[in-house]
Amino acid sequence: MDTFSPPRFRDDEAARAYLETLRWPDGPICPHCGVVNHAYPIKPAGTYRCAEAACRGNFTVTMNSPMERSHIALHKWVQAFHLLCSSKKGMSAHQLHRTLGITYRSAWFMAHRIRECMRSGGLGPLGGEGKIVEADETYYGNVERPRTKTTSGRPYTKSGKDGNKRPIVALVERGGNVRTFHVPVADQATVEKIVGENIARESRLHTDESRLYFNAADTFTAHETVHHTSGEYVRYEDGRAIHTNSAEGYFSIFKRGMRGNYQHCKEKHLHRYLAEFDFRYNHRVRLGFNDGDRAAIAVKNADGKRLTYRQPH
Ligand SMILES: [Zn+2]
Repeated sequence: MDTFSPPRFRDDEAARAYLETLRWPDGPICPHCGVVNHAYPIKPAGTYRCAEAACRGNFTVTMNSPMERSHIALHKWVQAFHLLCSSKKGMSAHQLHRTLGITYRSAWFMAHRIRECMRSGGLGPLGGEGKIVEADETYYGNVERPRTKTTSGRPYTKSGKDGNKRPIVALVERGGNVRTFHVPVADQATVEKIVGENIARESRLHTDESRLYFNAADTFTAHETVHHTSGEYVRYEDGRAIHTNSAEGYFSIFKRGMRGNYQHCKEKHLHRYLAEFDFRYNHRVRLGFNDGDRAAIAVKNADGKRLTYRQPH
């Protein structure tokens, strides 16, 4: 398996060194007191002791990460990060279990922990001056408790078949990042809130003719629509292409990946799978990221809790 020829994929010590380089670029960080580069190595290998007089705590690079106290070898974690970050449509726990030679249960557990590392919280708004943001909804997988037509939030919720599917809203900055939301119901109030809270006011919003976006023109610089029901998929106005093709492209990668690898995804886990597809999309080759970069970013995000770093006394 050529992809895994670098030592970090085959050897625990090399895997640990790789994690240390990524997570501690300025020297070991004590997870107890937050001091940077004021610790010395002790036994066993990979253990450090904080040199702050008030702390003196022992720690390793995996402390407070999903790798801490894991019985799975560190180099297999590094392989798993790489696999989930590089396969465009994801990788099933079954495939991970076979590739890594670990139990299915362990593979399932690892994959979910890695998805948590892919989640990005507290980001600023998408779009901005001169930028286009597309908004669109889709439906994927059956809801666990089907809604009836009368309680489906008419008139804005799709009735019939889609009424019992899980609604997903995607916002995509043209040529930039995606942000997705699994919502209980895609009605106007829900969608307006998401759009209002996640897109910069200065943006031009592109959607289809859906009434979900009825008030958007009051919020943004412009609201431009394509009329999908009459077969229009792109419209040109003053040299601008008006469409939602980026959002639809995202949905198509997501659905193909889900059908191919994660068809038994429970509704309560859907947001994690969305985080996985968002992460790969937002670190795609076109934006200058390769497989190694993507894995490194996920590994760096593996902190169990946020700590304020500080300088030694
Ligand atoms: Zn300390």
